[in-house]
Amino acid sequence: MICENNHGFGLNANRAGYDRRNIATATRRAFATGFSNMQPVFSAIDTLAHTRAADCYQCGKCSAGCPVAGRMDQLPNQLVRLVQLGLEERAMKAEAIWLCVACQTCSARCPKSVDCAGVMDALRELAAGKNLAAPAQRRTVIFQKAFLQNIRRNGRLNELELAGAFKTRAFLGDLNLPLLMKDALLTPQLMRRGKLHLRGGKARDRRVIERIFRRCLGG
Ligand code: SF4
Ligand code: SF4
Repeated sequence: MICENNHGFGLNANRAGYDRRNIATATRRAFATGFSNMQPVFSAIDTLAHTRAADCYQCGKCSAGCPVAGRMDQLPNQLVRLVQLGLEERAMKAEAIWLCVACQTCSARCPKSVDCAGVMDALRELAAGKNLAAPAQRRTVIFQKAFLQNIRRNGRLNELELAGAFKTRAFLGDLNLPLLMKDALLTPQLMRRGKLHLRGGKARDRRVIERIFRRCLGG
Protein backbone atom coordinates (compact mmCIF):
# COMPACT_ATOMS: atom_id res chain seq x y z
CA MET A 1 0.00 0.00 0.00
CA ILE A 2 1.23 3.48 -0.77
CA CYS A 3 1.20 6.05 1.98
CA GLU A 4 2.03 9.73 1.59
CA ASN A 5 4.05 9.59 4.79
CA ASN A 6 6.40 7.04 3.32
CA HIS A 7 9.68 8.32 2.03
CA GLY A 8 11.51 7.19 -1.07
CA PHE A 9 13.04 3.82 -0.43
CA GLY A 10 10.34 2.96 2.10
CA LEU A 11 7.80 2.82 -0.72
CA ASN A 12 7.40 -0.82 -1.70
CA ALA A 13 11.13 -1.34 -1.56
CA ASN A 14 10.66 -5.06 -2.15
CA ARG A 15 9.20 -4.63 -5.64
CA ALA A 16 10.83 -6.65 -8.39
CA GLY A 17 14.13 -5.24 -9.54
CA TYR A 18 14.30 -2.53 -6.90
CA ASP A 19 17.36 -3.85 -5.12
CA ARG A 20 18.18 -1.68 -2.09
CA ARG A 21 21.75 -2.95 -1.90
CA ASN A 22 22.49 -1.99 -5.52
CA ILE A 23 20.87 1.39 -5.06
CA ALA A 24 22.96 1.99 -1.93
CA THR A 25 26.14 1.02 -3.81
CA ALA A 26 25.24 3.36 -6.67
CA THR A 27 24.52 6.16 -4.19
CA ARG A 28 27.91 5.69 -2.49
CA ARG A 29 29.65 5.63 -5.88
CA ALA A 30 27.83 8.77 -6.95
CA PHE A 31 28.95 10.69 -3.86
CA ALA A 32 32.50 9.33 -4.17
CA THR A 33 32.79 10.52 -7.78
CA GLY A 34 31.13 13.85 -7.10
CA PHE A 35 28.18 12.73 -9.25
CA SER A 36 30.37 12.94 -12.35
CA ASN A 37 29.23 9.47 -13.42
CA MET A 38 25.67 10.77 -13.79
CA GLN A 39 26.20 13.66 -16.17
CA PRO A 40 25.33 11.89 -19.46
CA VAL A 41 22.20 10.38 -17.93
CA PHE A 42 21.00 13.67 -16.57
CA SER A 43 21.48 15.38 -19.87
CA ALA A 44 19.65 12.71 -21.90
CA ILE A 45 16.63 12.33 -19.63
CA ASP A 46 16.50 15.96 -18.55
CA THR A 47 16.74 17.25 -22.09
CA LEU A 48 14.00 14.95 -23.33
CA ALA A 49 11.77 15.59 -20.31
CA HIS A 50 12.60 19.31 -19.95
CA THR A 51 13.05 18.82 -16.23
CA ARG A 52 15.71 18.17 -13.58
CA ALA A 53 15.44 14.73 -12.05
CA ALA A 54 18.23 15.76 -9.66
CA ASP A 55 15.79 18.09 -7.88
CA CYS A 56 13.70 15.16 -6.61
CA TYR A 57 14.07 14.64 -2.86
CA GLN A 58 12.08 11.40 -2.76
CA CYS A 59 9.00 12.58 -0.88
CA GLY A 60 6.85 9.98 -2.68
CA LYS A 61 3.93 12.32 -3.47
CA CYS A 62 4.10 11.37 -7.17
CA SER A 63 3.69 7.67 -6.42
CA ALA A 64 0.99 8.31 -3.82
CA GLY A 65 -1.18 10.02 -6.44
CA CYS A 66 -0.45 7.74 -9.39
CA PRO A 67 -3.64 5.88 -10.43
CA VAL A 68 -1.74 2.85 -11.73
CA ALA A 69 0.94 2.62 -9.03
CA GLY A 70 -0.64 -0.54 -7.68
CA ARG A 71 0.27 -2.40 -10.89
CA MET A 72 3.76 -0.98 -11.33
CA ASP A 73 6.93 -2.98 -10.74
CA GLN A 74 8.77 0.28 -10.00
CA LEU A 75 6.98 3.31 -8.61
CA PRO A 76 7.36 6.73 -10.26
CA ASN A 77 9.59 8.06 -7.44
CA GLN A 78 11.74 4.92 -7.67
CA LEU A 79 12.19 5.46 -11.41
CA VAL A 80 13.24 9.07 -10.83
CA ARG A 81 15.70 7.77 -8.21
CA LEU A 82 17.17 5.28 -10.66
CA VAL A 83 17.67 8.11 -13.13
CA GLN A 84 19.36 10.21 -10.45
CA LEU A 85 21.74 7.37 -9.69
CA GLY A 86 22.73 6.74 -13.28
CA LEU A 87 20.84 3.43 -13.42
CA GLU A 88 18.80 4.62 -16.36
CA GLU A 89 19.00 1.33 -18.22
CA ARG A 90 17.24 -0.43 -15.35
CA ALA A 91 14.59 2.30 -15.38
CA MET A 92 14.10 1.77 -19.12
CA LYS A 93 13.57 -1.95 -18.59
CA ALA A 94 10.80 -1.39 -16.02
CA GLU A 95 7.30 -2.43 -17.04
CA ALA A 96 5.95 0.57 -15.15
CA ILE A 97 6.90 3.05 -17.86
CA TRP A 98 4.48 1.30 -20.25
CA LEU A 99 1.68 1.19 -17.70
CA CYS A 100 1.83 4.96 -17.16
CA VAL A 101 -1.25 6.61 -18.68
CA ALA A 102 0.35 10.07 -18.88
CA CYS A 103 -2.30 11.60 -16.63
CA GLN A 104 0.26 14.14 -15.29
CA THR A 105 -0.92 13.71 -11.69
CA CYS A 106 2.63 13.03 -10.51
CA SER A 107 3.97 16.19 -12.14
CA ALA A 108 1.13 18.30 -10.73
CA ARG A 109 1.73 16.99 -7.19
CA CYS A 110 5.51 17.34 -7.13
CA PRO A 111 6.63 19.96 -4.60
CA LYS A 112 9.97 20.27 -6.42
CA SER A 113 8.40 20.79 -9.87
CA VAL A 114 10.01 17.65 -11.25
CA ASP A 115 8.09 16.64 -14.37
CA CYS A 116 7.79 13.00 -13.38
CA ALA A 117 5.38 12.30 -16.26
CA GLY A 118 7.97 13.80 -18.60
CA VAL A 119 10.62 11.48 -17.15
CA MET A 120 8.33 8.50 -17.82
CA ASP A 121 7.86 9.73 -21.38
CA ALA A 122 11.61 10.17 -21.88
CA LEU A 123 12.26 6.68 -20.51
CA ARG A 124 9.69 5.23 -22.95
CA GLU A 125 11.24 7.06 -25.86
CA LEU A 126 14.77 5.92 -25.02
CA ALA A 127 13.67 2.35 -24.20
CA ALA A 128 11.84 2.03 -27.52
CA GLY A 129 14.78 3.51 -29.44
CA LYS A 130 17.31 1.20 -27.77
CA ASN A 131 15.08 -1.88 -27.83
CA LEU A 132 15.23 -2.11 -24.05
CA ALA A 133 11.50 -2.38 -23.36
CA ALA A 134 10.53 -5.13 -20.93
CA PRO A 135 9.72 -8.34 -22.88
CA ALA A 136 6.23 -8.45 -21.36
CA GLN A 137 5.54 -5.01 -22.83
CA ARG A 138 6.82 -5.78 -26.34
CA ARG A 139 3.31 -5.78 -27.78
CA THR A 140 2.59 -2.43 -26.13
CA VAL A 141 5.56 -0.94 -27.97
CA ILE A 142 4.44 -2.52 -31.26
CA PHE A 143 0.94 -1.14 -30.78
CA GLN A 144 2.15 2.37 -29.95
CA LYS A 145 4.42 2.47 -33.01
CA ALA A 146 1.65 1.16 -35.29
CA PHE A 147 -0.78 3.72 -33.81
CA LEU A 148 1.55 6.66 -34.39
CA GLN A 149 2.44 5.56 -37.92
CA ASN A 150 -1.27 5.24 -38.66
CA ILE A 151 -1.99 8.78 -37.43
CA ARG A 152 1.01 10.16 -39.30
CA ARG A 153 -0.11 8.58 -42.57
CA ASN A 154 -3.85 9.33 -42.35
CA GLY A 155 -4.14 12.28 -40.04
CA ARG A 156 -6.74 10.33 -38.11
CA LEU A 157 -7.15 6.76 -36.97
CA ASN A 158 -7.93 4.02 -39.47
CA GLU A 159 -9.00 1.15 -37.21
CA LEU A 160 -8.73 -1.67 -39.74
CA GLU A 161 -5.29 -0.58 -40.87
CA LEU A 162 -4.15 -0.29 -37.25
CA ALA A 163 -5.47 -3.75 -36.32
CA GLY A 164 -3.82 -5.27 -39.40
CA ALA A 165 -0.44 -3.59 -38.79
CA PHE A 166 -0.41 -4.41 -35.07
CA LYS A 167 -1.46 -8.03 -35.40
CA THR A 168 0.90 -8.75 -38.29
CA ARG A 169 3.93 -7.29 -36.49
CA ALA A 170 3.04 -8.97 -33.20
CA PHE A 171 2.57 -12.30 -34.99
CA LEU A 172 5.91 -12.02 -36.79
CA GLY A 173 7.52 -11.46 -33.39
CA ASP A 174 6.11 -14.41 -31.43
CA LEU A 175 4.06 -16.48 -33.95
CA ASN A 176 1.12 -16.32 -31.59
CA LEU A 177 -1.77 -17.56 -33.78
CA PRO A 178 -4.54 -17.06 -31.18
CA LEU A 179 -3.60 -13.37 -30.91
CA LEU A 180 -3.69 -13.03 -34.69
CA MET A 181 -7.23 -14.43 -34.84
CA LYS A 182 -8.49 -12.85 -31.61
CA ASP A 183 -11.46 -10.53 -32.15
CA ALA A 184 -11.66 -11.44 -35.87
CA LEU A 185 -15.21 -12.75 -35.38
CA LEU A 186 -16.28 -9.39 -34.01
CA THR A 187 -15.43 -7.62 -37.26
CA PRO A 188 -18.79 -8.10 -39.09
CA GLN A 189 -20.72 -7.10 -35.99
CA LEU A 190 -18.64 -3.94 -35.51
CA MET A 191 -19.02 -3.02 -39.18
CA ARG A 192 -22.81 -3.55 -39.06
CA ARG A 193 -22.97 -1.11 -36.14
CA GLY A 194 -20.80 1.45 -37.90
CA LYS A 195 -17.94 1.09 -35.44
CA LEU A 196 -15.44 -0.17 -38.01
CA HIS A 197 -15.01 1.17 -41.52
CA LEU A 198 -13.44 -0.61 -44.45
CA ARG A 199 -12.17 2.67 -45.79
CA GLY A 200 -10.97 4.85 -42.96
CA GLY A 201 -11.16 8.60 -43.41
CA LYS A 202 -8.16 10.80 -43.94
CA ALA A 203 -7.59 14.27 -42.55
CA ARG A 204 -7.98 16.98 -45.17
CA ASP A 205 -4.64 18.69 -44.61
CA ARG A 206 -2.22 15.93 -43.71
CA ARG A 207 0.74 18.26 -44.19
CA VAL A 208 -0.12 19.85 -40.83
CA ILE A 209 0.05 16.43 -39.16
CA GLU A 210 3.36 15.74 -40.88
CA ARG A 211 4.71 19.05 -39.62
CA ILE A 212 3.67 18.17 -36.04
CA PHE A 213 5.45 14.81 -36.27
CA ARG A 214 8.58 16.38 -37.76
CA ARG A 215 8.69 19.01 -35.04
CA CYS A 216 8.24 16.37 -32.32
CA LEU A 217 11.04 14.33 -33.85
CA GLY A 218 13.27 17.39 -33.94
CA GLY A 219 13.25 17.66 -37.75
S1 SF4 B 1 9.43 13.47 -8.23
FE1 SF4 B 1 8.62 15.10 -6.90
S2 SF4 B 1 6.83 14.16 -5.93
FE2 SF4 B 1 8.07 12.47 -6.75
S3 SF4 B 1 9.38 11.85 -5.06
FE3 SF4 B 1 10.51 13.35 -6.27
S4 SF4 B 1 10.14 15.32 -5.26
FE4 SF4 B 1 8.57 13.89 -4.53
S1 SF4 C 1 1.63 10.40 -15.50
FE1 SF4 C 1 2.03 8.19 -15.33
S2 SF4 C 1 3.39 7.99 -13.57
FE2 SF4 C 1 2.45 10.02 -13.45
S3 SF4 C 1 0.66 9.76 -12.13
FE3 SF4 C 1 -0.04 9.51 -14.24
S4 SF4 C 1 0.08 7.32 -14.66
FE4 SF4 C 1 1.31 7.69 -12.80
